[in-house]
Amino acid sequence: MMTDVRITGGCQCGAVRYALLEEPSGPHICHCRMCQKAFGSFFAPLAGVSLEKFDLTRGELAIFKSSDQTERGFCRNCGTPLTIHDVDSKRIAVSIGSLDEPQKVEPAFQCGIEGRLPWFGKLSGLPGDLTTEADNPDLAQQIAASNHQHPDHDTTSWLPRGT
Ligand SMILES: [Zn+2]
Ligand SMILES: [Zn+2]
Repeated sequence: MMTDVRITGGCQCGAVRYALLEEPSGPHICHCRMCQKAFGSFFAPLAGVSLEKFDLTRGELAIFKSSDQTERGFCRNCGTPLTIHDVDSKRIAVSIGSLDEPQKVEPAFQCGIEGRLPWFGKLSGLPGDLTTEADNPDLAQQIAASNHQHPDHDTTSWLPRGT
């Protein structure tokens, strides 16, 4: 028996949650300048599903139209970039980083490479370290005790905090 696909995700504060009801396809990173701005990052990690397989399970998407063709959905409360939808398309892409298990959706290609930052290829070779609080148990405890981020799974009720 096939089990129904249900892949969940949401914003940092937990005001917006969604579920994908099919395996996302075409996972990629987009280096275009619009995605850089929208994500405040070097690229946008995206994967798509059919519109009818995208289920908004909590809250609402705020929409910024970065062009007449493109609606970018985000959480109005915490600002997490969540979706990209071309108005004429029957598909919607979600930000891979907003999935509860982003490690399961590995990018398969890049696009917008004309916008790719010149040092992008060097990033994975940079010196690495654990989070700054890893060697500071007191600070780690303070952060854990006052964590306002929604956990990486659905919750039956949730009151966004931190604003
Ligand atoms: Zn939020
Ligand atoms: Zn882009």
